[in-house]
Amino acid sequence: DDEMAKQSENVLIRLNEEGFKAYWVGGCVRDELMGRSVDDMDITTSASPEQVMNIFEDCIPTGLQHGTVTVRSGGHFFEVTTFRTESEYKDNRRPAAVQFVQDIKEDLQRRDFTMNALAMDVNGAIVDPFGGQTDLSQGLIRCVGQAVERFGEDALRMMRCVRFASVFDFSIAFNTWKGLVHQRELLQHIAMERVRTEMVKMMAGPHPRKGLALLYRSQALEHVKAPVEASRFNHRMLTGLEQLSGEHTLLRWSCLLLAGGYDPIEADKLLRQWTFSNEQRARITGVLQVEQQVTDFVKQCEDMPALRAHWIVTVLTCGAQAANDWLQLQQVLPKRWREVSEQVYGSMTLIQTQAAAWIQSMPVHKLKELQMTGEQVLKLVDRKGGPWLGQLMKHLLKETAIGNIKNQRDALSAEVKRVTANEQA
Ligand code: ATP
Ligand code: MG
Repeated sequence: DDEMAKQSENVLIRLNEEGFKAYWVGGCVRDELMGRSVDDMDITTSASPEQVMNIFEDCIPTGLQHGTVTVRSGGHFFEVTTFRTESEYKDNRRPAAVQFVQDIKEDLQRRDFTMNALAMDVNGAIVDPFGGQTDLSQGLIRCVGQAVERFGEDALRMMRCVRFASVFDFSIAFNTWKGLVHQRELLQHIAMERVRTEMVKMMAGPHPRKGLALLYRSQALEHVKAPVEASRFNHRMLTGLEQLSGEHTLLRWSCLLLAGGYDPIEADKLLRQWTFSNEQRARITGVLQVEQQVTDFVKQCEDMPALRAHWIVTVLTCGAQAANDWLQLQQVLPKRWREVSEQVYGSMTLIQTQAAAWIQSMPVHKLKELQMTGEQVLKLVDRKGGPWLGQLMKHLLKETAIGNIKNQRDALSAEVKRVTANEQA
């Protein structure tokens, strides 16, 4: 935003006043040139971290060993990093040592791609030693220097390469692509959390299928710590991916896993290895649970009331959110991807048109909403608790949700008596 731009400008001006060189650098310059919104503005300077700390009162030494000081200006925080080179990369990740330098060009040389090796001074003059602007205007991702070497230094750059190609809909320069294919096995050294971060950005962008195709062709994901077999994905099912709003990206993940033929348990295991949070995992796999239940019951259902009853049980067990997510996903899946009989196809269509109304029609969604508690049941039948009670409560919830019994004490009591009498008989 404008205020952030102004505040970062003040930081550059202060550094210049003290006789140091200072630039906006990296992604923020690239995004600015592309006309994209910029969310963080990184600054690079010839001043040492100690000098930066002396100039600005409000600062935090966030990464002194890498030369980074976070400077606060107005309400905004900026990472101010001293010009530096990197050396001795360890295990194909992050440099072991950095060296401060006086020339911006040396700093730009350590950066991954030409479009990210751009700096801009306070007057808007651009430093571009590697032809980043030309590559940017041609939509090309190209490594600074030799791709094989650069990907060898830091394997995460390969994931970044694919992510940028996907999000920006850019091409990858031929040698850069060759270097990526050559070095893909090094991805095994990268923490899954960092791989996931790139994948999440890619999946949230406007062209996730492009990124997936690149991953498929390079076989990159076969080599990460928690590998994924590219050949298992049904590409026809991914055609709808981009129709799902980029804001609801977890549904895109559900779609992806569905296209990979993952069942809910397998999916949960993978997502755990990929370090997704519990909430994210629950949201993503909920859709797969609904899918599994629906494909099970749709084959045996002859009529509408049976479909409705099964659907409602699915909503009760998987939750209304998962059910609604599943429905949203159905809208974008290619028709007939299941490739099954007319009957199943017809039933699926019926579910898709009716399901939202069926959810609406449910008088109860949770045990808590029942007009009868477990304790009240125990009193009513004068029995000790046990597994039977949980089953009975579930039965009451189901019958009430379907509408076979009213959610009233009398009706529920009658059902309790009927069921327990049957059991005793
Ligand atoms: P975005 O913020 O949109 O995800 P970005 O390019 O700004 O993309 P950051 O992680 O914010 O990515 O990094 C800022 C800059 O630091 C990059 O533009 C690049 O110049 C440099 N950089 C980041 N990661 C690497 C890396 N793994 N290897 C080399 N340079 C990198
Ligand atoms: Mg950035």
